[in-house]
Amino acid sequence: MIIDGHCHLTDLRWQSHLPSEMAESRRWGLEFFMQGGVDPAEWERQESLAAEYPGQIGLCFGLHPYFVAENSMADCQRALDLLAKKIHGALALGELGLDFRPHIMKESKERQIDIFEEQLELARVAGKPCVFHFVQCFSEAILCLNEFGSPPRSGMVHSFTGSWDKAQKFLERGLFLSIGAGLLHPKNRRLEIVVKEMPLEKLLLETDSPDQPPPLGYRPSGPSQFGGLVEEMPVDRNSPRSLLWVAERVAQLRKVSVQEVLALNTANFQRLFKPDV
Ligand SMILES: [Zn+2]
Repeated sequence: MIIDGHCHLTDLRWQSHLPSEMAESRRWGLEFFMQGGVDPAEWERQESLAAEYPGQIGLCFGLHPYFVAENSMADCQRALDLLAKKIHGALALGELGLDFRPHIMKESKERQIDIFEEQLELARVAGKPCVFHFVQCFSEAILCLNEFGSPPRSGMVHSFTGSWDKAQKFLERGLFLSIGAGLLHPKNRRLEIVVKEMPLEKLLLETDSPDQPPPLGYRPSGPSQFGGLVEEMPVDRNSPRSLLWVAERVAQLRKVSVQEVLALNTANFQRLFKPDV
């Protein structure tokens, strides 16, 4: 079983394309799709999706930094109350975290930190692993994690693209690093170093579909088992099938087979999230 460790199949960009995407992904062996939670309405869409595709959708409920940035403290608190009731039905709490890019953050820095810490506490109480979204907030994220301690059920830093120095700070706290199509960008030497250096038992693979596509016109270099994907990949959104290219690139960098990388991803995912499949 091949797993996409983080994607957004509830995203409105999928809608009518989803049945064919699920069929195509299945043809390439992708069988389980862990979601990244955004807000209460989106959690409901995850539940509908899980009913439609039984055994293939990993539920993940949380308040995304985008939601926190765009809503008042009172609305965030109401959503947190709902999260406290619903989290027991999910595999993980997320996406929680911080996003300090100026166009996202605006006036929300303090609120993002407050709601992040409240979600860390909720994950601890509920005994759930965390799915972290950290963008341009490294020192604040480490401060919060130091203050609260590492999450007892651990967690993944989704779409990690930072340096080996930063990677080590998350690894020291027991977290997993989830690698996506950032690795396929030719200028991303920094991420290649992380993939070469990190312990394989902390590696996860994801696509963040429909976001974060491989570079436009991407083709695997050298002999590839997944060259056939080039012709069939959608151009206007990232498909979970691009995970196979990321796995192949990891395999090249670590000098192991792509089958080993995919099996490792599944084993690590199951150890962290303990899905019922
Ligand atoms: Zn995401």
